Amino acid sequence: MEKLIYLDNAATTALKPEVFEAMKPFFLENYSNPNSIYTFAQQSKKAVDEARETIAALIGAKPNEIYFTAGGSESDNWAIKGCAEAFASKGKHMITTKIEHHAVLHTCEYLEKKGVEVTYLDVDADGMISLEQLEQAIRPDTFLISIMFANNEIGTIEPVREIGAIAKKHGVLFHTDAVQAFGHVPVQVDELNIDMLSASAHKFHGPKGVGFFYMRNSVKLGAYLHGGAQERSRRAGTSNVPGIVGMAKAAQLAVDGMEEHSKKIAAVRDHLIERVLAEVPFSKLNGHREQRLPNNANFCFRFIEGESLLIMLDQKGICASSGSACTSGSLDPSHVLLAIGLPHEIAHGSLRLTLSEETTMEDVDFAADSLKAIVERLRSMSPLYEDFVKNQQHV
Ligand SMILES: *Cc1c(COP(=O)(O)O)cnc(C)c1O
Repeated sequence: MEKLIYLDNAATTALKPEVFEAMKPFFLENYSNPNSIYTFAQQSKKAVDEARETIAALIGAKPNEIYFTAGGSESDNWAIKGCAEAFASKGKHMITTKIEHHAVLHTCEYLEKKGVEVTYLDVDADGMISLEQLEQAIRPDTFLISIMFANNEIGTIEPVREIGAIAKKHGVLFHTDAVQAFGHVPVQVDELNIDMLSASAHKFHGPKGVGFFYMRNSVKLGAYLHGGAQERSRRAGTSNVPGIVGMAKAAQLAVDGMEEHSKKIAAVRDHLIERVLAEVPFSKLNGHREQRLPNNANFCFRFIEGESLLIMLDQKGICASSGSACTSGSLDPSHVLLAIGLPHEIAHGSLRLTLSEETTMEDVDFAADSLKAIVERLRSMSPLYEDFVKNQQHV
């Protein structure tokens, strides 16, 4: 088998060996329940407390504003359903965007069935929301604005600071799904006026199935899971001690190395983008050119079917995605690509390549070479492409 070239870091990332080492003792040596009274449990309690302090410090929050969850999806559900319930008397309206992750979108759709009115903001061709449209959408009964920090498909970073300022000015709570952002770009909750935030360990080289939910102390949502008194009685269930320890370790490593890593990753990514746009005819970059996650490249190729592209890249040992991992298996084009105005047939020919600090220039050169050959081959079999070329010759 050839070398595996993993270019799907928006779907999940490799666990770092240091993170695994930090977790290991809490599997093999101290397996205690941190809520138990005996001395043996003190080590795991201390580890969970320290993890909370570490993560709080990294986003400029207080430790008692951090709640450990089972990941990004749970944190998103908590923010949105929790607000809908807690503020039912204030209002029935919330604002989000058309390009959110399904953890947000499907939660909103669920609430719509229960009578909540949801405004889904449009985005422009780069995937940016309009601040004017956001402000216009706010009503006296708006209880929440939930807008993602950075998009998982096209990498566009939303104007979070300005969104936070608008929310604050109108006295509306602001939640952001920062699952793609935290550990990759600076995230400070006070500076950005964020009231609630979702993050997930496996998107920054931590373990799967663990995340955190930041909730400002002034926001008082009720319990999300009922049961024991864990997480200040708001999220019951025995703490996932190894997961929490691993997440904190991964978060610290990600934030400490961010400046250096993001520069390096962006340089490799930019080389990939330049090569693809220059060497693959009828290709286009999706997402904002500058306001963009450092590790994201998303292209569309006319006359290409995304699934075929992925299968042929896979045969070369390249792991890529056509949108989000969650939608693969369905034939619907990505809601994000439709929202930025791509027609159905072009949205189908899209490819997302997401890098990590381990991705080398050789890796992306191999990917660009492979892509060029595969696109050429697929087009040579496409009657649509043949017609297109013929018509071009006539004009
Ligand atoms: C991956 C992802 C999620 C879901 O996180 P899980 O931890 O896998 O539940 C939510 N939002 C965004 C933007 C994501 O990229």
